[in-house]
Amino acid sequence: MSEPVLEVTDLVKHYRTSGRQVVRAVDGVSLAIGHGEVLGLVGESGSGKSTVAKCVLRLTEPTAGRVHIAGRDITHLSRRAMRPVRRDIHIVFQDPYSSLNPRMTIGQIIGEPLRQHRLARGRAAQDRVATMLERVGLRAELRHRYPHELSGGQRQRVGLARALILEPKLIVADEPVSALDVSVQASVLNLVADLQRDMGFSCLFITHDLSVVEFLADRIAVMYLGKIVETGTREQIFADPRHPYTQALLSAAPVPDPAIQRSRQRIVLGGDPPSPTHPPAGCHFHTRCPVAIERCRLDPPALFGDGHAAACHLVTPAGGPLLTSKGV
Ligand code: SF4
Repeated sequence: MSEPVLEVTDLVKHYRTSGRQVVRAVDGVSLAIGHGEVLGLVGESGSGKSTVAKCVLRLTEPTAGRVHIAGRDITHLSRRAMRPVRRDIHIVFQDPYSSLNPRMTIGQIIGEPLRQHRLARGRAAQDRVATMLERVGLRAELRHRYPHELSGGQRQRVGLARALILEPKLIVADEPVSALDVSVQASVLNLVADLQRDMGFSCLFITHDLSVVEFLADRIAVMYLGKIVETGTREQIFADPRHPYTQALLSAAPVPDPAIQRSRQRIVLGGDPPSPTHPPAGCHFHTRCPVAIERCRLDPPALFGDGHAAACHLVTPAGGPLLTSKGV
């Protein structure tokens, strides 16, 4: 891979709650995204995936580790030094409604990054806004409307247009379809895929739902309690999931074909994920893992494998434990 657009190395983010407890939100995460590549970062609520995104965007300071954008170390850049970098990275938020200023028209919202970075004004800015509206499939006259006059799907298209108007190198999409009706999720996902193919940006796509990245991600990283437990290409993760947690997530993901859906064994994990203030010793997943062995309570597994890697004592070069609804 040529120099990655995003490289995150040994990222750690711990913070204190008001009760003085330490939350280990991210605990040693490393990942890289190449030019034009989409990485799906998948995990339940509390897995730390959104905290990784906030560190990448410098919305929060990491406790340790480094973040490089296009080869430049941005981990501790000042607010001023970050300004030009912000042209290259944009975010698409989960809730398109709360992320759009209700007092601005759609045209002003989409054109705002041009104004902030002093890249275009007047007619030139209006032309670029018109181009973006067309690219995201919105009618030109919507530029005069306000966010409350649009549907959820239209608002997320506005969020995409705003994020892409500067043609950034990297888009961080934080659960961009989870607030939308199921009926409009697919059309927004298809739009993201089309735009990504046409414009060639790299993308860190964050989701709790593995099925959302099935047709979008080139590679996938699965997080559990602050750590990446499995990473590989989309094909590797969907055809040969090795970590028991990935296998359980996949077994719960909806399949379009009802016959396959009926025949599929659903692996139900016991309980909720433990709190990141008190992650279990050893393998963090051992309290819910159907195939845990004694060693798992004491010895944290490292990511094992080249390209397709999983953090589990039972994974061998031949593959992972074959989990079923009854265990191994
Ligand atoms: Fe389960 Fe042990 Fe593997 Fe962790 S290391 S996933 S507890 S078998």
